[in-house]
Parts: sequence; structure tokens; C-alpha cells
Amino acid sequence: MSEHALKINGLNKVYKNKVIALNNIDLEVKMGDFFALLGPNGAGKSTLIGILTSLINKTAGKVRIMGCDIDTEFSKAKSQIGLVPQEFNFNNFEPLVEIVKSQAGYFGMDKRIAGDASEECLQKLGLWEKRKSTPRELSGGMKRRLMIARALVHDPQLLILDEPTAGVDIEIRRSMWELLSKINENGKTIILTTHYLEEAESLCKNIAIIDNGNIIVDTSMRALLEKLNEESFILYLKKPISEKLKIPEYQFRLIDEKTIEITLNTDKSLYKLFSLLNEQGIEVLSIKNKSNRLEELFLKLTSNSNS
Ligand code: ADP
Repeated sequence: MSEHALKINGLNKVYKNKVIALNNIDLEVKMGDFFALLGPNGAGKSTLIGILTSLINKTAGKVRIMGCDIDTEFSKAKSQIGLVPQEFNFNNFEPLVEIVKSQAGYFGMDKRIAGDASEECLQKLGLWEKRKSTPRELSGGMKRRLMIARALVHDPQLLILDEPTAGVDIEIRRSMWELLSKINENGKTIILTTHYLEEAESLCKNIAIIDNGNIIVDTSMRALLEKLNEESFILYLKKPISEKLKIPEYQFRLIDEKTIEITLNTDKSLYKLFSLLNEQGIEVLSIKNKSNRLEELFLKLTSNSNS
């Protein structure tokens, strides 16, 4: 079995109007991962998902889903994906059980198996009691669960959710988070697009940030958060440094002979640094925060997405 639920190499998408929506993207998502794809509006998230789910044609590149090439093993690749789009797109007048069953039929399951699979999914998502209701009678949270039940009916390995909690209240958001964690713990690989860092942080093991069609960060959530915990300071000294600085535990660079840039984890003490400097006869005149690169990146991302 493939080690990767998703493997993308050199993926490009140029729309007819010459907009480069994806620019030579490489990305790997391991089996069992809970992966966040974060980025502001217009970054290229929907284009990427569209290509994975074969709704959009790529311009160039290779995409493998569970080891299956989407060009040469189209049906096999497609059957490994369950997509939960952002907008509700079911028939509001059809009973739930029929909505889920017809999706199973779409994946070529025979009637009896489709019936059993639909029951299993509706049970798992707490909707079996409502099977004869129509979506009009459901709460917002239930409608979202119906979208997930439908996406899972053909038992795909990879579940892709496009902004699953956009515009939902905090209560539904939390219960969605719990539900998705459970689905992941039970073995499904999940890719989630979002522009909420908090959502990605609570749920995901790994994260890629996409901006302007480029992957600008691709790392583990832990590594990203550790970087976010780092802070840089600029220290202005009274006199030029004459000897080599001895502050071995600290990451620093000399900007000039009277200015030091120091980077430290937010749990590390500035007090100890000052004592070390004092011992070497170095007096600090003033200190200024230098916002770190990743903070700047996130500020830029959120300001873009709010515009
Ligand atoms: P996101 O989902 O991250 O908001 P999209 O993938 O929708 O981003 O868009 C990426 C870029 O491609 C944007 O500049 C957008 O305007 C452009 N784009 C998206 N769809 C089309 C289309 N059908 N035709 C032309 N340009 C498009």
C-alpha cells in the first residue's frame, strides 16, 4: 500500500485569463495524516482541491492519490477521495438516506451494499434517526454532518474538506472538530482547507501554507508553532563591543559593533541574558522587539484574507 495518501509533483494551473493559480507545487500528505492547507482568499486552495477531485484540469504536473495517478488511473484515484465542499449541494427535498445512497450508486456500488453503507455512515454521524427527513428539517450542524456522511459512503481513504467551518458558530465548530478528530483517529487521512490558524492548530499534525499559488510553508504543526514562539529583539549598546561575545545559550548576530539581534524562545529569560552581558561589562542602552518573520507572514496572510 502507498505510504502517501497524496503526492503532488510540479503541479501547475494557469487559467485561460493567464492567472497562474498554482505555480509548480510539490506536496506530500502521509497516510493517516491530518493535514491543513492554509491560505488567504485567492491563494489557490480551491484550484488545488478542484484538481484533486477532477473538477478542474491541471496545466502540468503529476498527482497521485493512494499511489494512483489521476491521469492514468482516474477511477481508482477518484474512488479514494471523499470531498466535502464548502456549500451545501444536496437536494433539499430528498430524504437523507436517499441522498447518501445515490452518492454510493454514483461510485458504482450495488443497491444492497449501497443501502448498508448508507446506514453505516448515517449511524456513525448520528443521523440515522433522521434518515427519512429532508435537509430542510435539519439544523446547520446536522447539514454539515450529512455532507460528511455522503462524502464517506464509498469508504474513501482520503477525506478533503473545503473550509468546513466557514461562517458557523463556535458550538458547531467545536463539535465539528471533535467529529473530524474521531474520523481521523479511525484511520482516514484528512486534508482541510481553512484560513483560521486556530482551527489548523487544534486539529492538524502537518500544515502547508499557500499564497499566490506558491507553497510558502510546508512543515509539522509543532515545528511551525515552535517558530511562532520565537521572538527577536534588537539590543542597542552603550559602547562598541571590543571582545568576542560570550552568550552561548543564545542565538544572536551582530548588526554592527553597538547593535545585537537576539532570538529567543518566549519561555527563555531576558534577565539571564542581561546578567551575562553585565558580567562582560556590556551595558544595554535600549531594547526593541523585532517582529519575527513568521508573525509577519501571518499578519500578511490575514490582512490579505480580510481585504
Ligand atoms: P482560494 O480557493 O485559495 O481562494 P482559488 O483557487 O479560488 O483560491 O483562486 C486562485 C487564483 O485563481 C485567484 O487569483 C483566482 O482569481 C483565480 N481563479 C480561480 N478560478 C478561476 C477561473 N475559473 N478562471 C480564472 N481565474 C480563476
